Amino acid sequence: MVRRETWLGRALLAGVAAAIAAFGAGAAGNAGPAAPAALVPAPAAFQAPVASPAPTTSPAPATSPAPAAANDIPREWLTPAEAAGFEATPDYEETMAFLRRLAGRLPEMRLETFGRSAAGRPLPLVVVSRERAFTAAAARRLAKPIVLIQNGIHPGEIDGKDACLMILRDLALGRRRGLLDDATLLIVPIYNVDGHERISPYNRPNQDGPRRGMGFRTTAAGLDLNRDYVKVVSPEAQALVGLIAAWRPHLFVDNHVTDGVDHDWVLTWSWAEAPQLPAPVDAWMRARLPAALAATERAGHSTGPYVDLKDPVDPAKGFSSWVGEPRFSSGYFPLRNRPAVLVETLSYKPYAQRVLATRDFLLALLAEVGRDPTGLTGAVAAAEAATVAAGAPHAPPSDVAVNFEESTAADRIRLPLYAAETATSQVTGRPLLRYRRGEIRPIEVPWYHGSRATLTLPRPRGYLVMPGWPQIEQRLRVQGLRVEQLAEAAEIEVETMRLGPPHLAGAPYQGLIHTTADVTRRTERRRLPAGTLWVPADQPDFALAVQLLEPEAGDSLLSWGLLSTVWERKEYISPWVLEDQAAQLLQNPQLAADWQRALADPKLAGDPQARYLWWFQHTPYWDETVGLMPCFRLLAAPSFQTRPWAR
Ligand SMILES: [Zn+2]
Repeated sequence: MVRRETWLGRALLAGVAAAIAAFGAGAAGNAGPAAPAALVPAPAAFQAPVASPAPTTSPAPATSPAPAAANDIPREWLTPAEAAGFEATPDYEETMAFLRRLAGRLPEMRLETFGRSAAGRPLPLVVVSRERAFTAAAARRLAKPIVLIQNGIHPGEIDGKDACLMILRDLALGRRRGLLDDATLLIVPIYNVDGHERISPYNRPNQDGPRRGMGFRTTAAGLDLNRDYVKVVSPEAQALVGLIAAWRPHLFVDNHVTDGVDHDWVLTWSWAEAPQLPAPVDAWMRARLPAALAATERAGHSTGPYVDLKDPVDPAKGFSSWVGEPRFSSGYFPLRNRPAVLVETLSYKPYAQRVLATRDFLLALLAEVGRDPTGLTGAVAAAEAATVAAGAPHAPPSDVAVNFEESTAADRIRLPLYAAETATSQVTGRPLLRYRRGEIRPIEVPWYHGSRATLTLPRPRGYLVMPGWPQIEQRLRVQGLRVEQLAEAAEIEVETMRLGPPHLAGAPYQGLIHTTADVTRRTERRRLPAGTLWVPADQPDFALAVQLLEPEAGDSLLSWGLLSTVWERKEYISPWVLEDQAAQLLQNPQLAADWQRALADPKLAGDPQARYLWWFQHTPYWDETVGLMPCFRLLAAPSFQTRPWAR
């Protein structure tokens, strides 16, 4: 799941009793508080069919038998999960062994690795290509869509792996051959391989299987890889982003399992829409995703948008599907002009049901890609071309979006919620919501899924980055950005970014201390040394450079606390040396007047340290780079000579 980390805080802060009362009204069997005439219809692309049209009682899914998924498959070709009756999911070695058998039988499949985990396990990659285009260069030459399906970023949520093993097995048995016609498939069967091997039946308290156990959410070092797409701290994320930069897949699918509220949808989905996603790609998604969802429904699985309740104890307040922060896969791919589909099956459904829903959705989505392959590649190409054109040296002025948040605009949607009743919790002593599984009580609720920019800035022609910051250089390299270097030292008019005092988060997050500051931008002429990095704006992935380097961006290197030395004063001036400096400087009547004005502030006048700093800052010994971002925005067309980046 992708739930924002504020969830627990929201849950605890919610006005529980009032909320329960409000929910009770909504759950009483009517369509919710708003009259149908007042409803804003969801856009056609978002009409999410509800499996059961009226309040009914359906068989409780938790107790339904596992579907007979594989009765026409020869026993020796059952996937490990099928062979175990979906009570178990194969561990790393068993998964690899099965994949090797499949690769031995399917000449269009190659089993590769794309890096190593922190604990040293090879990261597996399956490439499926009818043309046997098993390298990034060969696949890109085909001009077919490249679709990347990622499983096990949260290894406890492993439905996607077992779904993909079924699809690959079918291909190996000569079935579903049409899948090979119109796309090159990249499948990461298990991304967080180290977490995947920390198997326990107690890793996912809210999840109905696989009963014999599943992997653990984070890496061995405690990192959540679905927070690591931009900052790429982990070796796993560095490897995956390298894979993405090399193959440049046109469509990405990230398979998860979610919990929280209990409802009738088995498979929920989301994606970061326009304006986060470039318009041509957004249009392709709106044209194709509904058909894929409809096909999934026809295959017997109820689907709906990803549900992150606004108030965990009051579903009537509606839910959010917005998943646009760039640290998530779903927010990251739009920075690269590509759509990412987040799949979240519902953890309360039995494992077999979840795996089959995931499989059927993947098949349906691939079928939609096959119906319009050039539509997808063309949309991505158009989005890339627009980014490059907007960043050209003499392009008309435009803006870049630095931060987005969930839009306050909501559609209304029918949520096939399960009936619920309240009891007093023995644990908390407060009201507790309990669902009666299978008994659907649909309610009309607000559905938030759009985004809006909260900070935009004039698009620079590029960034100049001071040499000697490996934290920055590593990310520019791993993300595959085009970078050059100043051939010679040059005096250049740039926009500097000076930071106010840092505000440090009170606790670590992903092992780092999130940090924010006010930013003052101004035009300065600065002499930049030879070797200064140049990150031009006329490249398709430039939004990633914006995200890394603009200090206010939520996933910037500064925000993640990776550039915090900028605030530290590194040198000291002895008081008596400063005293002599001050005596000399006071000869300047202008400075003497400035000092008198400063002294008029009693706070400064009474603070020896503030007075010391005031004078230190007025001597030539003061380090003017304290609080200065080590990168600069170039606002005019570049006029300097560059050379290739010597990495
Ligand atoms: Zn997840």
